[in-house]
Amino acid sequence: MKNMAKCIGEFEWQGIGGDAIKSLTDAENGDMLSSVAWRKVRSILMKELEERPKLGMMKEIAALELESRCVVLKRKRDRRMMIKLRGGTAAFQIQVGRWQGVERKERTCKECQSEETEDVCHWLLQCPAWDHLRRPLVEDVSQCDGFQGQSLTKQEAFVLATACTNYTLLNYLCSMWYARFSA
Ligand SMILES: [Zn+2]
Repeated sequence: MKNMAKCIGEFEWQGIGGDAIKSLTDAENGDMLSSVAWRKVRSILMKELEERPKLGMMKEIAALELESRCVVLKRKRDRRMMIKLRGGTAAFQIQVGRWQGVERKERTCKECQSEETEDVCHWLLQCPAWDHLRRPLVEDVSQCDGFQGQSLTKQEAFVLATACTNYTLLNYLCSMWYARFSA
């Protein structure tokens, strides 16, 4: 414990300087260390989630337990689109802003006036700019069990899972994709 107190004495914590820290009891030292450790772990975790949002969507897709793999798609451009959408690497503002170091709250949709962050979910299910192309897609997917009444995240996962085996849905998704990205 003496060595620990010595080590602690060499840094500051919440404005308490070295010598004051040395005079803390072991229990107080323990509390302080666990608070410092948790802050560090949490910041690493938040950074991971920020950098790898794809893990979140892939988990949602996996949770649906639907047979859904991009490799079964015959056209290369379909596979590429689905991999980007599912993996969180499509060039929506959320991702482009990350590459450019733009603050998250400023990665808003440039296709509409909503001021919402443009991510896959906004583009796929919410952005009014794509309402006309989304309508047939939603009509089609609404006939499947497991879509209606779900949260937006689950609906997004459902579309991204189902499009790998439902070519009608895939084609609607392609129309939205090319409207957004080949302008
Ligand atoms: Zn929008």
